[in-house]
Amino acid sequence: MMIVMKQAATEDEIQAVIERIESVGARAHPSRGDEVTVIGAIGDLEHIARLELDGQPGVDRVVPILKPYKLASNQLKHGERTVLDIAGRKIGGEHFALIAGPCTVESRDQTLTTAHVVAQAGATMLRGGAYKPRTSPYAFQGLGQEGLRLLAEAKEQTGLPVVTELMDARDLEPVLEVADVVQIGARNMQNYALLSEVGRSGCPVLIKRGLSSTLEELLMAAEYVLKEGNESVMLCERGIRTFETAYRFTLDLTAVPVLKELSHLPIVVDPSHAAGRRDLVEPLSLAAAAAGADGIIVEVHPDPENAICDGPQQLRTDGFAEYAARVQAAAAVAGKAAFVGA
Ligand code: PEP
Ligand code: MN
Repeated sequence: MMIVMKQAATEDEIQAVIERIESVGARAHPSRGDEVTVIGAIGDLEHIARLELDGQPGVDRVVPILKPYKLASNQLKHGERTVLDIAGRKIGGEHFALIAGPCTVESRDQTLTTAHVVAQAGATMLRGGAYKPRTSPYAFQGLGQEGLRLLAEAKEQTGLPVVTELMDARDLEPVLEVADVVQIGARNMQNYALLSEVGRSGCPVLIKRGLSSTLEELLMAAEYVLKEGNESVMLCERGIRTFETAYRFTLDLTAVPVLKELSHLPIVVDPSHAAGRRDLVEPLSLAAAAAGADGIIVEVHPDPENAICDGPQQLRTDGFAEYAARVQAAAAVAGKAAFVGA
């Protein structure tokens, strides 16, 4: 249920509604907009209905949230966009984020070189995997804690917030020491125990759409994090499985405007894993930015021919600044503020 407060509702009246919701074991999720405060009441519907909150002082009306995802739904925020502040870098609303870095943290030199190049080019965050989900158990699985240490060093040198993947809840503590954003990979999008754990951590989360997941399933994954009281969630379209074999996955750009219609959460697009080919990364990035994505997460490497993982799709550090400037121009088409040089 969604309790819409009157514009003139006092803080005491808001608090009283929250207390009544919590008195029946439900959770209250207030969201304070410019105009009105809306309180999401999540729990047993019958218990909440019995409270007859529409008669309570300060309450304008009580309306059901029709979607199965409640906290992720646009209805809860009255069309207001969520803007996240990740260590001073904003994403959502008019703010665009360019998240760039290697697929995998391979070495100190590779990580620091890439971090400096993307920072110089105006990227707003650094990506890099220390724990890698690989199709083959015989493939390189990531440097683990040593990789996290290198990411920490790159963050210290460049000031860029770090986005890195968590695959196993047992690694949560070391990952949280470095991560400004925890990435949940496509293969773990429906690992509900992991999503709840990251939700409880309070750390911002980027959830990648599963290879064959619907948008509703993606939003339900976000709901698992939001339900724990963690409001810092980004959704990521990274390409889905279709019958097409000419490229790795099919980037579903329709997801961008549709997710914006369904949810208030920032939408990020990953053109690298979708394409699987370097030459496709820029056109897909420009299309995503122009379609209104709130950010792009892209792979960059100083020597992709010798990359341990995903070499064919990683952009070269040479030329990355020009790429970033063109992405910025495309984002401006969709009304986003400048991020390069910001
Ligand atoms: C990644 O971003 O490093 C990655 C493995 O992506 P995905 O989970 O989308 O395959
Ligand atoms: Mn990769």
